[in-house]
Amino acid sequence: MSKAIQIGTVSVLPGEVKRGAIEAGADMAGRPYAMPITVVRGVADGPCLWINGATHGDEPEGAFSIFLALKQIDPQQLRGTVVAVPAMNVNAFTAGMRGDPLDTFSYDMNRIYPGKADGYPTERIAHAHWLAMKETGDLQIAVHSGGEHSYLAHMIFASDNPVSLELAAAMGPQWPLVFRSPVGGGNPSSMMGSLGKGGITVELGGNCRTLTRDFHTVAADLAASYLNVLRHYGMIDGTATYAPAWQQGYQIALLAPATGIFVGNPDLPFETLIPQGTPLGVIYNLYGDVLAELVAPRDGVVFGLRSRPSVIEGQWCCFFGVIEQTVDNLISK
Ligand SMILES: [Zn+2]
Repeated sequence: MSKAIQIGTVSVLPGEVKRGAIEAGADMAGRPYAMPITVVRGVADGPCLWINGATHGDEPEGAFSIFLALKQIDPQQLRGTVVAVPAMNVNAFTAGMRGDPLDTFSYDMNRIYPGKADGYPTERIAHAHWLAMKETGDLQIAVHSGGEHSYLAHMIFASDNPVSLELAAAMGPQWPLVFRSPVGGGNPSSMMGSLGKGGITVELGGNCRTLTRDFHTVAADLAASYLNVLRHYGMIDGTATYAPAWQQGYQIALLAPATGIFVGNPDLPFETLIPQGTPLGVIYNLYGDVLAELVAPRDGVVFGLRSRPSVIEGQWCCFFGVIEQTVDNLISK
């Protein structure tokens, strides 16, 4: 008889789906702070995959895609365990903001891992989540997007170890952009990497794509990717599919050269190699004069663009990727 796995308030046996929470501290009314989780434990043994949404509270794609994926995962057909965390930063999610507006000291939850038991409010929550995940998790997908200011196309930042790069490849054919990011940094993926485990940060969507069908399209894309991961690791039946090759490189933040209204080039393709000098967008002043033009600083790919037009000099305008190499060996076989 297998022993129960304990994650937060959830105790789960093989073949069970359980709901509960990771708790940390309490609110003014004395209620425990609760990060809702759903744990699906398969009838057979296998890896434990954590899917983490809304580290940033203005990025709801993780939550919705997790709901779509969970409907398609049957514990009776599963080998291993899926731990679904639709919204890690519940207070930020409630506010629809990147961080918890009540916590200005550790505002960005994606920069403070592994958190701190006696730290600032969000550090304490991150710490409780980290303890639960590092104990049980083998693989982790953190789901991000452009939030309230930008759109982000398919992009994966994989912790720089072979396990994480394989996890990135397992996301499927629509994810050929896989950039390596250092292990041991302040985000959950990078902390998983520092333990030799798999950790990736995936980007897709933004609040500019949360209206009706568009939101479903983005979430279904992500959900299909999680299922592809489950197939790749043999956690469910079926054959995984992959990108033919993966492009690696580094990102350049293209910041607004002026304050005004940013308007992107209507013909700008995402996730496609474009030459240096390609127009990306312009910034107008409130008289309609073009104050500045944004162009590709070199050959590369646009994987994200500002979607909120009003912009202050120095804010993000474009997420630009420089491709250094194309590889076809991310999967160990
Ligand atoms: Zn984010």
